[in-house]
Amino acid sequence: MSTNPQVPNNLNIVPFVSVDHMMKIVGKIGMEQILKGIADYIEVDFKRWQLFDKTSRVASHSEKGVIELMPTSDGELYGFKYVNGHPKNMKEGLQTVTAFGVLSSVDTGYPILFSEMTILTALRTAATSVMAAKYLARKNSSCMAIIGNGAQSEFQALAFQSMLGINKLRLYDIDPIATRKCSDNLKGQGFEITLCKSAKEAAQGADIITTETADKLCATILTDDMVTEGVHINAVGGDCPGKTELAREILLRSAIFVEYAPQTRIEGEIQQLEENYPVNELWQVIRGEHVGRENNQQITLFDSVGFAIEDFSALRYIRDQLDKPGMSDMYEKLDMIADPDDPRDLYGMVLRSGGMSKVA
Ligand code: NAD
Repeated sequence: MSTNPQVPNNLNIVPFVSVDHMMKIVGKIGMEQILKGIADYIEVDFKRWQLFDKTSRVASHSEKGVIELMPTSDGELYGFKYVNGHPKNMKEGLQTVTAFGVLSSVDTGYPILFSEMTILTALRTAATSVMAAKYLARKNSSCMAIIGNGAQSEFQALAFQSMLGINKLRLYDIDPIATRKCSDNLKGQGFEITLCKSAKEAAQGADIITTETADKLCATILTDDMVTEGVHINAVGGDCPGKTELAREILLRSAIFVEYAPQTRIEGEIQQLEENYPVNELWQVIRGEHVGRENNQQITLFDSVGFAIEDFSALRYIRDQLDKPGMSDMYEKLDMIADPDDPRDLYGMVLRSGGMSKVA
């Protein structure tokens, strides 16, 4: 697995992966393989945690939602994602979450990849969730509840099926149309699916509970009585100040695992707890520096908010795929960087292009 920037010969031409290209890439590689591939890259990068520049994302909040920038670097590559979160969008026929991202060479500062990241975010979020569950869920888990059956839901189901063997799903959404859509999309993929009438019903008998609802408020999607011994909670939807999904009592009964604690304390479920409440960062578990699940009775909680390194890994994965045979029509080449023959003669290049009107 290469971490080399592998910049193209022509540095001013940058590969661009559009939404259409990304769908073709998923089709060519296969959903299961791409989820596994991204999960592997994230795991490799979480093992190299200390190498990365880490910062909480830069968020611009409004009444309607949030727009965020998520940068990081491993010293060789630099990446960032632009992402929004607008729960009200869905009712207007728009995506709650959209994103795009850039990967650059630290050596030159030149970009080496531009990519859509709306689909890639759904893939990387599911890949991160299942990577966490690999360490935190009970080994014989087979049944997952998914509460919130929107854009992220099928990706989560398929990731948990391919990497953890989840073959039973219990679906619930306040909007039955969303549950029907999720169930129809997953038909014929080897799941036994139960459509539920409440979050409580969905949680019954589940080994893993995934919450991925969208509302800009401190909601209580799961109450304490819905969470039984040994359950692993994959809490994905609470990812902003003032936007949570779990009753506080659940947090007090759980072993809590986060991506990057300074960011999660602002945005995650743990914003409900006092500042120094003990939590574990996932990379420590992956590196064997901290124990994950301790026994089959423990309740484990992955308080997912989404961290920049996951996006960096996903971009790095896509960049490496583009170098493989048969991938040349999976991107287009953008003329992104000005490239005068003499680097100091930027003006001369514009002048000689003939595009400037003469000054009288
Ligand atoms: P979406 O708008 O497509 O779907 C959200 C679904 O939640 C909708 O179907 C809605 O009807 C349902 N819902 C809302 N309130 C509910 C309730 N009380 N009970 C049951 N269902 C309810 O959004 P999406 O793209 O699927 O994203 C889901 C959430 O995950 C969002 O809050 C988003 O910000 C978050 N997210 C987190 C990460 C991460 O890395 N942690 C990544 C992507 C998205």
